[in-house]
Amino acid sequence: MNAEIIAVGSELLTPRRLDTNSLYVTGKLNELGVELVAKMVIGDEVARLTEAIRGALSRSEIVILSGGLGPTDDDVTRDAVARALGRALIYHDDICGEIEARFKRMNRPMVEINKRQAYVIDGAEWLPNPNGTAPGQWVEDKGRVVMLLPGPPNELKPMFDNECLPRLTRLLPPRIMRTLILRVAGMGESDLDQLISPVYREYKNPVTTVLAAPGDVQIHFRALCASAEEADSLLAEVGGRVEKLLGDRIYSRNGDPLETVIGERLRARGETLSVAESCTGGGLAGRITDIAGSSDYFVGGFVVYTNRMKTELLGVNEELLATHGAVSEPVAEAMAAGARERTGSTYALSITGFAGPAGGTETAPAGTVVIGLASPSGCRSRRFKFIVDRARIRTLAAQNALDMLRKSL
Ligand code: AMP
Ligand code: MG
Repeated sequence: MNAEIIAVGSELLTPRRLDTNSLYVTGKLNELGVELVAKMVIGDEVARLTEAIRGALSRSEIVILSGGLGPTDDDVTRDAVARALGRALIYHDDICGEIEARFKRMNRPMVEINKRQAYVIDGAEWLPNPNGTAPGQWVEDKGRVVMLLPGPPNELKPMFDNECLPRLTRLLPPRIMRTLILRVAGMGESDLDQLISPVYREYKNPVTTVLAAPGDVQIHFRALCASAEEADSLLAEVGGRVEKLLGDRIYSRNGDPLETVIGERLRARGETLSVAESCTGGGLAGRITDIAGSSDYFVGGFVVYTNRMKTELLGVNEELLATHGAVSEPVAEAMAAGARERTGSTYALSITGFAGPAGGTETAPAGTVVIGLASPSGCRSRRFKFIVDRARIRTLAAQNALDMLRKSL
């Protein structure tokens, strides 16, 4: 369904007043999947307003008016809608009673002109206004709906939320929301967005959002459709095109984190994993064991912060450490190989790095991390240079280690 909003009030045609009501209403409509196709600002003039309403009704199923429901001569919205629909305005004694009671509570007599606010379009439902005198109106007409709402935002907002939204929800065809979440490792947010935005921008439905964490970008696609099949096929279409662009950088299609994805693969293959960590101090093992049931595939690990511990616990050659330094490819591989050999696991991941901010060497400044992987087919390693703070360096190190294993599985 399409909607139009008409903001009524000559003050809105001056440089001093801005129509903000339509922004509020538009946000709420969009949440229901209703698109706004036009909005207008019309002064307090009945003929022009009647024209505008007729035009809106000829194009759209939902027409929402704000303002012009006051008691004075320049409040012409009731009149204009009645004319546009060819209906009469009917005086309601009970509404007049309520307005009078409201004045009484304020210790003021009701003046005669307030009676104008007790006129309701024939066949309309009137909407209570706890924050003001002017009731709103809800009129259904030949499959279309017209809403008359008061101008003051503190009256319009609660009336729209409490009276109009429930009625609109009943009127709209049932909608189903389905979500697809792709998780990506090894790519920054801006690189990723540059690559995929030309695709997802083609689609208003599903709505796409990109959420970034260190070394981990999530792409959320939300489709709102009449049926689950329609939503799923839309998600498959857009998701498929994005997947083609990202290839094996996508590690999860259901929102699962890397440690879950790896755990499931290891379990399915009946294989095991151990770790040897320096600068992450157990953070990698922490993430792996966050997952319930990880004892099926995780055998254990080593936190080897000093060179001596690397040698004593993992058998890393002292000469290797002296020649290449602790943060180097040969040492990372020797750590992984040592962990694999000593635990008997199928795979071993190692992390050695300078998390900073101080420290590091000329060849391996702070932020340098080398990740090793030992597997039945031999050892590999990869060097990273992260230019972020200590906490992020450690997060990125663990994330990249997990991703290195995932790619080899
Ligand atoms: P009315 O219901 O036309 O008597 O409007 C009363 C007051 O509500 C106006 O003087 C404005 O201050 C405010 N108002 C009316 N229309 C809007 C609008 N579209 N957006 C924000 N405020 C409005
Ligand atoms: Mg006005």
